[in-house]
Amino acid sequence: MFNALVMDKDEDSGLASASVKQLSESDLPHGEVTIAVEYSTVNYKDGLCMSPKGGGLVRSYPHVPGVDYSGTVEASSDDRYKPGDKVVLTGWRVGEAHWGGYSQKANALADWLVPLPEGLDTRQAMAVGTAGFTAMLAVMALEDHGLEPGHGPVLVTGAAGGVGSVATAILANLGYEVAAVTGRPEAGDYLKSLGATTIVPREDINETVKRPLESETWAGCIDAVGGEILARVLGQMKYGASVAAVGLAGGAGLPASVIPFLLRGVNLLGIDSVMQPYANRVRAWQRVATDLPMDKLEAMVHPATLGDLPQLGADILKGQVKGRVVVDVNA
Ligand code: NDP
Repeated sequence: MFNALVMDKDEDSGLASASVKQLSESDLPHGEVTIAVEYSTVNYKDGLCMSPKGGGLVRSYPHVPGVDYSGTVEASSDDRYKPGDKVVLTGWRVGEAHWGGYSQKANALADWLVPLPEGLDTRQAMAVGTAGFTAMLAVMALEDHGLEPGHGPVLVTGAAGGVGSVATAILANLGYEVAAVTGRPEAGDYLKSLGATTIVPREDINETVKRPLESETWAGCIDAVGGEILARVLGQMKYGASVAAVGLAGGAGLPASVIPFLLRGVNLLGIDSVMQPYANRVRAWQRVATDLPMDKLEAMVHPATLGDLPQLGADILKGQVKGRVVVDVNA
């Protein structure tokens, strides 16, 4: 028997609620690899999956959420993995359409897993988690489109959140000047400790676009917020610069003009971590191991247990989680 956070749906109200329960291996959905899960984390999507209506993401109940996890292989019917291997899993709709990592044991398809790179342990892998992995993908996309240190300041929006915190630390470590947008003035010192050189108050940048083009300010941007902030930022990019659109914490709309694309050659790059091809996953995890300073990562971490998850899910939907939560599923 092992513990898991299970969402059950009340048939009368149609609403789901979470509790820690004991499961046996026969309860687990089929998979090629059985993993003794060590750590998981809390992403915005986990907040949606733990909400009473499952955020429109959960397909059926009972359900075990947790969109990412790390652990040790216990058994495998696939040659690529053997007992004792350390692995990390993000994406593939695990924790939404499939049972996830809020459990001491999980089954997965071998294609979903990535071997932990040299230099990262299972706890650090979940301190990074989907948020940090996505931040790395965004940095790689900006670099692939020509961004280099010395081009000018790189803007990070939603900076005190998970994606933003890791993006700030990676960019600063690579030698970029980082301007961090936050709606939490008290997070300024934290963001500076991660390497941000400038703090941009959210209210300075979240008004609806007045003019399609403003002064050319940012050499690149990693945007976790979307909505009016993303629209405004497009008009502030330097000529030929790129914005990596990662999230929608501020809204899924984009009330923007095409003028920045046409007159300044600005690029809007979509970043998806869920269906990312395997080779790029391996590349991104290796870059995380080399480019993210582990002392900075540790400064972002808040430890949690399975029992803390329902509250943390509600908190992240309200934008109240700072940095990265690491859930020790065996604590
Ligand atoms: P967090 O909640 O940790 O961070 C989001 C941050 O956005 C908050 O901390 C806050 O930063 C800011 N924010 C929240 N609400 C608003 C608002 N109304 N207006 C402006 N800013 C706001 O989430 P994550 O970092 O884990 O994820 C960020 C986004 O990225 C989410 O939308 C998530 O779904 C998405 N995502 C996408 C992935 C992909 O594959 N494309 C993968 C992972 C995440 P501050 O307090 O500093 O202002």
